[in-house]
Amino acid sequence: MTTGYTLVIHGGAGVLPRDAMTPDAEARYHDALARVLAVGEAVLAADGSALDAVEATVCALEDEPLFNAGRGAVFTRDGTHEMDAAIMDGRDRSAGAVAGICGPRNPIRVARAVMQHTDHVLMIGAGAHSVASEAGLAFEENTYFFTQARWDSLQETLDMERAGTLDDDPSRRHGTVGAVARDRKGAVAAATSTGGMTAKRTGRVGDSPVIGAGTFADNRSCAVSATGDGEAFLRLAVAHEIDARMRLASASLEKAAGGVVHDDLTAIGGSGGLIAVAADGSFTTPFNCDGMYRGWSVEHGERETHIY
Ligand code: ASP
Repeated sequence: MTTGYTLVIHGGAGVLPRDAMTPDAEARYHDALARVLAVGEAVLAADGSALDAVEATVCALEDEPLFNAGRGAVFTRDGTHEMDAAIMDGRDRSAGAVAGICGPRNPIRVARAVMQHTDHVLMIGAGAHSVASEAGLAFEENTYFFTQARWDSLQETLDMERAGTLDDDPSRRHGTVGAVARDRKGAVAAATSTGGMTAKRTGRVGDSPVIGAGTFADNRSCAVSATGDGEAFLRLAVAHEIDARMRLASASLEKAAGGVVHDDLTAIGGSGGLIAVAADGSFTTPFNCDGMYRGWSVEHGERETHIY
């Protein structure tokens, strides 16, 4: 059991294939992950809570256009953005989430506002926007969320659909950002934010904002943030399944998370991965696809970023 903090982040499973990854692009991803880690470290090193750390970290990831969340979110098949986010505090399992929103600059802040300023857990549409306005959160025009790379991915996906050549290459369709942390007091928290899957139908909601599927935190076990085929993660209630195996079957974090990703997810044809930190500060980052943008920082220990 460590007494220091642990912070783990992801920028989505479904990375650029190795042969499409240039040294320049690779360096940009590593730099972005390192910058984001610094944001969460600053919170935790000042004795901040895991909850504040994951919120600040996911905000920084949302502001990075390289990742599929906030600025840089993927497009629906109608050329719009619909963003989902969730946050959960392992101390008391309070949680907040939003789905299908476009306007607030940082969806994760809206999720936190839902958690703190309403009696609800998951909100959509105009009601979610009202919570954001009442909390004084920043809004942006649609152009803020536009990135050429995501627009090109949408066109490529729609062209492939029309030509009947659509594959399920995760690097074109996936993304999502997330953070899990364990603070110096031993509390854990999780936050996840996403634009969802490229060319998704309007109104589709994935696993990220669903507590127990893409996001979960409980001080008795662990905090989890997932990325990948949302429908598969929903069907398996992935994040809660990991928690349950730890609490009820005394599995280690690594065994619980690894089993769910490598056995259960793979068995139903789902691709993706997750980051998880246990209340003792240990962590794991399993994935069953080519790679997952990820990084971690352990107080007085390792600080690393990885793609493959
Ligand atoms: N899990 C996200 C969703 O289904 C997408 C992703 O992580 O790639 O919306």
